Amino acid sequence: MGVHSLEQYRPDSVAYHQGEYRPLEQCHINIMTHALQYGTMVFGGMRAYWNADSQQLYVFRLKDHVERLLRSAHIMQMQSPLGKDEMAEVLLELARRNNAGCNLYFRPFIYKSALQLSPRLHDVKDDFSCYVIRLDDYLDMNRGLRVMVSSWRRIDENIIPTRAKVAGGYANSALAKSEAVQNGFDEAIFLDSRGMVSEGSAENLFLVRDGQLITPHLASSVLEGITRRSVIDIARHLGLPVLERDVARSELYIADELFFSGTGAQIAWITEVDRRRVGSGQIGDWTERIRQAFLLGVTGRHADFRQWVTPV
Ligand code: PMP
Repeated sequence: MGVHSLEQYRPDSVAYHQGEYRPLEQCHINIMTHALQYGTMVFGGMRAYWNADSQQLYVFRLKDHVERLLRSAHIMQMQSPLGKDEMAEVLLELARRNNAGCNLYFRPFIYKSALQLSPRLHDVKDDFSCYVIRLDDYLDMNRGLRVMVSSWRRIDENIIPTRAKVAGGYANSALAKSEAVQNGFDEAIFLDSRGMVSEGSAENLFLVRDGQLITPHLASSVLEGITRRSVIDIARHLGLPVLERDVARSELYIADELFFSGTGAQIAWITEVDRRRVGSGQIGDWTERIRQAFLLGVTGRHADFRQWVTPV
């Protein structure tokens, strides 16, 4: 079950909206806003981790998150009011202003802010905002997840590009997530339009089979996950061969290990898929090793992955 809740809303947290740092409770948009009406918004999701030993907050892969957001904007023909360096500086400043000795989650987005009627991309003004919340685990990390293959197919490249994090595309994620949770599962796994395995509602997916780490390739309608990339780096570092390829549904049933990766999910292991036990039903050895390395990396404790974090 998801462990996040509305308690994350803190009216006095500092957000960035319409070119200014303001308390979140003072950030509003008009009901005619194009992005609200048509989902014409692209967003990111980034974390900063508090390291209690060194009393230091670390932003995880700041530059990569900014670059992905700007690429999403480019796909959607949006003009960001902030360049790459300016945006990174705003996010760092938000980290400084919201630094309260705990883990933070950032939701930066570029959206069609004009009050305009027709669904289109061109000639509609864009703006950038970001809010910050406290966030520990998005999914329960103390146990394995029970997941189902969704009856909803993943939107594909020629419907809404999944490579871009477009708000409108997340109606697809919401349908799958609710179907799964309302049927007693924790998460959903999508198949793509060809019927091959794609990803979770907001996570990339990995399998371990016969000593190899396998993940659906980037043409399987998946997001180019930043955690996905980090997991691949960690696996190679640990000497685990990595394969990006098509994955069939029934391979999920015979995987030795199965886990999700994502900014929210972090590394979340799966104990059961479509009512079939995965491996021994416990967290797998490789999953555990990858998770440990990841948790060291995000808190600036892994010497080989120090380049991932920006101290605040
Ligand atoms: N897939 C989808 C659909 C997502 O929304 C996310 C979360 N951003 C991910 C995968 C994981 O990506 P990342 O590791 O960059 O958070």
